[in-house]
Amino acid sequence: MGPERVRFDEPMAWHTSFRIGGPADCLVQPLTLRELKLTLDFCQGEGVPYLIMGNGTNLLVRDGGIRGVVIKMVRGFDGISRRGSLLVSGAGALLARVSGRAAEENLAGLEWGIGIPGTLGGAVFMNAGAYGGEMKDVVEEVVTLHPATGETRSWSCGELGLSYRSSIFQETDDVILEVALRLKPGSRAVIEGEMKTYTERREARQPLNWPSAGSVFKRPPGYYVGPLIEEAGLKGYRNGDAQVSELHAGFIINRGQATARQVLELIEIIQERVEGLFGVHLETELRVVGEDQEDGAG
Ligand SMILES: Cc1cc2nc3c(=O)[nH]c(=O)nc-3n(C[C@H](O)[C@H](O)[C@H](O)COP(=O)(O)OP(=O)(O)OC[C@H]3O[C@@H](n4cnc5c(N)ncnc54)[C@H](O)[C@@H]3O)c2cc1C
Repeated sequence: MGPERVRFDEPMAWHTSFRIGGPADCLVQPLTLRELKLTLDFCQGEGVPYLIMGNGTNLLVRDGGIRGVVIKMVRGFDGISRRGSLLVSGAGALLARVSGRAAEENLAGLEWGIGIPGTLGGAVFMNAGAYGGEMKDVVEEVVTLHPATGETRSWSCGELGLSYRSSIFQETDDVILEVALRLKPGSRAVIEGEMKTYTERREARQPLNWPSAGSVFKRPPGYYVGPLIEEAGLKGYRNGDAQVSELHAGFIINRGQATARQVLELIEIIQERVEGLFGVHLETELRVVGEDQEDGAG
């Protein structure tokens, strides 16, 4: 793998939609299963910690960065093919691209995925969803690589423990390689019409022109996060360059130079205020990784 695919001291701010995060000791972008296996074998043989990432759209990387190797599964593993009513795609393909391909193939069921900026692997890991749809509804089979044994395994949907923003892969260290989606025959025009509606809704209601990691918190049963934060008086509240979005209070945006520390402090302020006022605990949806900066400066 050439220097453009193995980078040292790579700022994670360049690889996350939040544009926040200190450097990874090493960031590797494998394009093939062989390269992925070599990277994992190296890490395991040398006792080097590693982290798998997709497109970095649900990650908050702390300011001290990530020790060890970050394996970014985006540029490879992105082939999409149709097998009957199944759409089979590498885990590194962007969900929006897979949704677009489903429309081209006159396959319905993935319209909601059009505005989600992550990869298909990240979407399975998170059981991503929007507008009443979620991965659980469409996944037929997932193929993974087990890093310790180097073996691939295929999982049926029922084995994945998919529930609200959760999957079994949050508890295992399997690497998602490929996903087969079971979709329904549909009309491209209708599918694209629905996608257009969803896109317009997102553009109107979400701060898409600021860096963010999407919704920061999971929806607590019986409540909506945005209104809770708004009623707590925190819409627009700022901690340094981290700010509760004025458009959608469930998003925290980076107004330019926000640090992970500022975002984490803001999350705590929101959690304390909402819990104190309404007795509702807001659990984070975004995944926080890496180390704090040693000098404590941010
Ligand atoms: C503007 C915006 C809007 C969003 N809207 C939505 C929405 O409507 N609905 C929704 O559910 N989410 C939404 N998100 C959040 C995010 O896009 C999803 O959670 C997405 O599924 C994350 O995918 P990713 O590839 O970016 O994963 P990353 O953020 O890179 O990683 C997330 C987790 O998945 C793991 N992971 C990623 N790929 C693999 C793999 N191949 N194998 C094993 N583990 C893997 C990582 O280790 C990490 O723990 C939004 C984000 C933004 C910025």
